[in-house]
Amino acid sequence: MKKKIALITGVSGQDGAYLAQLLLKKKYKVIGTDRRSARSNTWRLRRLGIENKVIFEEMEIGEIYEIERLFKKYKFDEVYNLAAQSFVQTSFSSPLNTSNITGLGVLRILEAIRNYNPKVRFYQASSSEMFGEVYKKKQNENTEFRPQSPYAVSKVFGHLITKNYRKSYGLYSVSGILFNHESPLRGEEFVTRKITLGLIKILKGDLQLLELGNINAKRDWGYAKEYVEVMWKMLQQKKPEDFVVSTGQTYSIKHFINETVKYLNLKTKWIGKGINEKLINLENNKVIIKINSRFFRPAEVNFLKGDSKKAKKKLNWRPKTNLIKLIKIMVDEELKYYQ
Ligand code: NDP
Ligand code: GDP
Repeated sequence: MKKKIALITGVSGQDGAYLAQLLLKKKYKVIGTDRRSARSNTWRLRRLGIENKVIFEEMEIGEIYEIERLFKKYKFDEVYNLAAQSFVQTSFSSPLNTSNITGLGVLRILEAIRNYNPKVRFYQASSSEMFGEVYKKKQNENTEFRPQSPYAVSKVFGHLITKNYRKSYGLYSVSGILFNHESPLRGEEFVTRKITLGLIKILKGDLQLLELGNINAKRDWGYAKEYVEVMWKMLQQKKPEDFVVSTGQTYSIKHFINETVKYLNLKTKWIGKGINEKLINLENNKVIIKINSRFFRPAEVNFLKGDSKKAKKKLNWRPKTNLIKLIKIMVDEELKYYQ
């Protein structure tokens, strides 16, 4: 049988790497794009042992002709758009670039699909950040969007234009509304990885103090490796539909810290309140975590908790990794590769 060809934009990112691994296992020919000529950002693919199995193509998602070039060169069966300026904090300092890449980038791909390959199946990486200032205890496919950052506003655009092209042109274009998902391959600027890596650096004597922002925000954290399975499943359905993907459990950043500290066997104690809250290492009475308002966001998403009943029912998917297990996976691998 002819190998299926998949395009993964943002293959050098966390999800791109896990998805490439999954599709290679399923015998796809995987074309992965990044925007660099010097292949400096392939550590995740290397870690998974698939660096030489992915066919790399350069594609800056801000440039329509680069996208079209690939659509002329390959007859893709599936396209997964994971490329984005994906960090909420940066979206406040670079709102125009974020809108151009995270928002308009989706439309550029949809236009290429419409013009060159309307039969292709398209996955868009939507985000729970789109729910923003939530007004419901759990968020599902029907929950209203109240985005709180240029990142989230851009994702709402990408989400709606994906739906619009499905309706207007009959494309198989769908969005997965994925809640936060983490792994040892998560970027170091995101809070979970910042905490696991930061605490290990402190343990090893390579860092004195970890500074964080709002530790009372709550997130529904899942394991990235499991979440990419849904992306693939979503493109194998008869009918194109959007899905929420989440664990249904939510915890504060402070809880994540406490569980990580426990797993690392550190004896600690919280003192102070609000901006003055600090975590003390009881072994030497040194402050190891403090709050720095530099990491606060102009507008915050305080609470997210997903309801992925639809994915359970229609895709037969459910998360297997709870927070404790996720922390164990992240810390163990962090320690294994720590230099
Ligand atoms: P990462 O930040 O790890 O990966 C993003 C990828 O996009 C990188 O490969 C990056 O390349 C690439 N990229 C950035 N800018 C451009 C550009 N201008 N042109 C081409 N490529 C570009 O994100 P994740 O893997 O964590 O997430 C994947 C997708 O899912 C993203 O769209 C993200 O917004 C979304 N998402 C993620 C969630 C999560 O919890 N992880 C939750 C919900 C949605 P480079 O290495 O060059 O920067
Ligand atoms: P996000 O949900 O996509 O914004 O993922 P992040 O991991 O970047 O942030 C999750 C939550 O952690 C947000 O509510 C942040 O405000 C909060 N947070 C608290 N301190 C920090 C920090 O130092 N860095 C980051 N990235 N987030 C922090």
